[in-house]
Amino acid sequence: MGIVVQKFGGSSVATVESLKLVAGHIIDEIKLGNKVVVVVSAQGKTTDKLISEEKEITENANLREHDVLVSVGEQITIAKLSMLLNDMNYKAISLTGWQIPIITSSNYSDSRIRYINNDTILEYLNSNNIVIVAGFQGVDENGNITTLGRGGSDTTAVALAASLNADKCDIYTDVDGVFTSDPRAIGDTKKLDYISYNEMIEFATLGAKVLHNRCVEIAKKFHVPLYVKSTFKEESEGTLVGKTNIEDLTVNGVIKDDYISRITIFGLENDVNKTYELFKLLAQSSINIDLIVQSFGEDTIKDISFTVRMNDLYKTTKLLEKNKEKLGYNKLVHTENLSKVSVIGVGIANNPIVAAQILEALSEKNINMHMINSSEIKISVLVDIHNSSAAMQAIHDKFFK
Ligand code: ADP
Ligand code: ASP
Ligand code: MG
Repeated sequence: MGIVVQKFGGSSVATVESLKLVAGHIIDEIKLGNKVVVVVSAQGKTTDKLISEEKEITENANLREHDVLVSVGEQITIAKLSMLLNDMNYKAISLTGWQIPIITSSNYSDSRIRYINNDTILEYLNSNNIVIVAGFQGVDENGNITTLGRGGSDTTAVALAASLNADKCDIYTDVDGVFTSDPRAIGDTKKLDYISYNEMIEFATLGAKVLHNRCVEIAKKFHVPLYVKSTFKEESEGTLVGKTNIEDLTVNGVIKDDYISRITIFGLENDVNKTYELFKLLAQSSINIDLIVQSFGEDTIKDISFTVRMNDLYKTTKLLEKNKEKLGYNKLVHTENLSKVSVIGVGIANNPIVAAQILEALSEKNINMHMINSSEIKISVLVDIHNSSAAMQAIHDKFFK
């Protein structure tokens, strides 16, 4: 008899009707003889609503209080689900992050899990309770409530599965698994039966919100078998995250990120020390830069372009303008409203045709590309945001239609 961790997201717990479906999935697992730990999100759009209520009071909330507020949604769900199961004659107990406790770092709204004390959960499991845990929340070493970042309940679930050495972690959501692209954004997407941890990390990092990227990192590190499946579809086979078929030289997905801007620095001295100064400055301010292109360096000056996420744009341009003299460049320009469309697959490194196919898809639709970048399992192209959906569909069709 093993431990199974199940996680149900916001749309899966939104109404009493869907909570009953959730209870059904839990009871199925109990009937198989397993001990079950359930992690739940806030109901429906509760977290968004709490955030907009916060904004009615202040645009600049104290982050400690922000976490106290946004963690409330999950507490409502654990109580309701536990009541429902008890009413159905299944022993269930609700636990918040601080009751367990799930100890995290103190950086509010983006805390990292440091340690989970299994004792309370194991005690309840051993007295035949279903343990219902509030996702997304923890507590720091000083007893302050913390949260793990939007979508963080997935990370609570996988971290618990790793800590409890569970047989598996099932992430139940509103789609039938991981698809070749967001099934709600484009047509003709296909469900994947399995995907490697590394591809899933790329997928999640690039914006496929079906899984929180940190949950996949944890699953990889602790070898947690991780399944994504549907709450609403019976007999959902789902997707197994963590399986790779070494001979598969395939592309597994296409994803876009619409919050990209590009900064170009003209006339930087063509000296590696200057380039180092530039990137050191950005790193010291924790600015993540992504695609980088440098003009040919045969002249004494060169131009460098790189991308940053939209919410880092202001901070980055201010920083670079402040250091204009020190860096000694001529001019800085930025472009907003760009989108990064990425193709993901373990086959990419060994398959030069993939880049050609991406460019063929764009050229057939007459979509211009501003930058291209490749790594072992990913090729990304930068396009104007108004072309991003068409680019994603065209590239997706090239590989999956
Ligand atoms: P939950 O509330 O269950 O955590 P989310 O809304 O966070 O669910 O994630 C599920 C959503 O992720 C789906 O409804 C889908 O629109 C989106 N999504 C984006 N990319 C993908 C993908 N490649 N495969 C499946 N779903 C995806
Ligand atoms: N309720 C939180 C959110 O909406 C956490 C989660 O759903 O995973 O981001
Ligand atoms: Mg989610």
